[in-house]
Amino acid sequence: MRLMFIDAPVRPPRSATTLVILASLWLSLAGNLTLWKNLYALPEISGWQGLGFTLVFACMIICVVSAVLSLFAWRLTLKPMITLMLLITGFATYYMWMYGIVLDTSMTVNVLQTDVREARDQLSWQLFLTVIGLALVPAYWLWQQPMTVLPWPKQIGRNAALFAVSLLVAFGCVQLIFQDFASLMRNHTQLRHQINPLNSVNAFLQLTVIPSEKKDGPLQPIGEDAKTAGNFSHKPPLLILVLGETARSQNFSLNGYARSTNPLLAKEQVTSFTQVSSCGTSTAESVPCMFSHLGRKDFSGRRNEYENLLDVLQRAGYAVLWIDNQSGCKGQCDRVPNVNTANLNVPEHCNGDECRDTVMLTRLEAEMAKLPVERLARGAVVVMHQMGSHGPAYFKRTSAEFKKFTPECTDTSLAQCEREQIINAYDNTIVQTDFFLSRVIGWLKGQDKAHTTAMLYVSDHGESLGEKNIYLHGLPYRVAPPEQTTVPMITWLSPHFEQLSRVSTRCLQTQRDKALSHDNLFHSVLGLMAVKTSVYQRELDFFAACEGR
Ligand SMILES: [Zn+2]
Repeated sequence: MRLMFIDAPVRPPRSATTLVILASLWLSLAGNLTLWKNLYALPEISGWQGLGFTLVFACMIICVVSAVLSLFAWRLTLKPMITLMLLITGFATYYMWMYGIVLDTSMTVNVLQTDVREARDQLSWQLFLTVIGLALVPAYWLWQQPMTVLPWPKQIGRNAALFAVSLLVAFGCVQLIFQDFASLMRNHTQLRHQINPLNSVNAFLQLTVIPSEKKDGPLQPIGEDAKTAGNFSHKPPLLILVLGETARSQNFSLNGYARSTNPLLAKEQVTSFTQVSSCGTSTAESVPCMFSHLGRKDFSGRRNEYENLLDVLQRAGYAVLWIDNQSGCKGQCDRVPNVNTANLNVPEHCNGDECRDTVMLTRLEAEMAKLPVERLARGAVVVMHQMGSHGPAYFKRTSAEFKKFTPECTDTSLAQCEREQIINAYDNTIVQTDFFLSRVIGWLKGQDKAHTTAMLYVSDHGESLGEKNIYLHGLPYRVAPPEQTTVPMITWLSPHFEQLSRVSTRCLQTQRDKALSHDNLFHSVLGLMAVKTSVYQRELDFFAACEGR
């Protein structure tokens, strides 16, 4: 027997098509607050014409979103798909609004590679409110709605019709505003990465489906003829390559910054290069490119994955070690000995689940002792991957004794702080890195009896600290401001290294304002370590210009 509840509230069922249209409206209009704000700020968008343009633009986005959703308009897939898009849009809106970032392929890779600790650094109540308002409330409403789906042959027809009509209207919209639209997109290329949720859909397709982006052929060997040719015999060379994080060149007092952020390095015989540009604007983009022989342009268009600098050094016979105090080596240390120090609980260097970069020095001797003796006798290259100035929680990167500039921004949502406080917190991370690098040099000096020592420090990318209202990093390279792409690079050679390599610090200092880039790193390290191989290009080795001078 069926019971009837006369007074029970009855929700009218909604067709899948109606839900697609409602979701498209919400995702396109509410989910694009950042886009509307940014469009409104553009000089091209003003008056009635600007308003008309924006309305047609919005209609275009609604139609494309509904075309995408029409593909999923089935009983089991529609609600999950809309929910996923709501969540992505909620998170994306927060980051785009707060930090001026855009969601392109490389930003998506960054997000996917972020570890738990990094993610936790970024949690804030504004993030929760944004996600609740834009995603969770509408998702809750969505799941409350009974949905009707037609028998499948009819639903196919319905979905196909919705798809076709959506695309047709979108096409009509483009025609209406084509001239203005084309020039707007040309002049502000980052805009197309700001269209939620299509930017995420696009990045996802780029990363998974679109074949040109995939390099799944076998790993290509390079430098198979690599040999050591140095005159280091009785004291093998030992290079520490410090891979910096989010350090930007202009905040180093060695490069002319007005604040004293390099008090300790200033006392060492170092060379600080002032005009070094990065390969990318994020860790995931820069790090693999830095260790590649290809250089920025060829790297982004490469068809295959190649071995890297560390493979060549190892093939030449050197011992190679990667010590990581961050979220991993982005595949660069896959074929060399490597260790992660981020979760060690060394009391003086760690608190909670994060360790200062100096923790890497405490592990150095023990880890080097595990390397093959015959390789160590030839020489060694140790990469130390810093936590450095990783944001947005800059204040978490420094110990109390290095908080030289106060007050610091201690809110992970940077927009809540005065810009001065953000810069204070950031500058303190540079002071902390200054201390770390001086400790690395100190450690190398202690190895002088047994090794010919040198240090090379270079950061992966820079950081925006509120210039033009942009924060953090990761903008597409073409439109990235110099703050994100100009990185510090510092060399230190022991007197014995200078003597044997015939490269003098005095000469390097005359070259410090030369325009260099990450493209120089691969060849300069091979040159410095006296590796002979056909893949080495002397014109890209910045030490070579100083050899014998
Ligand atoms: Zn980075």
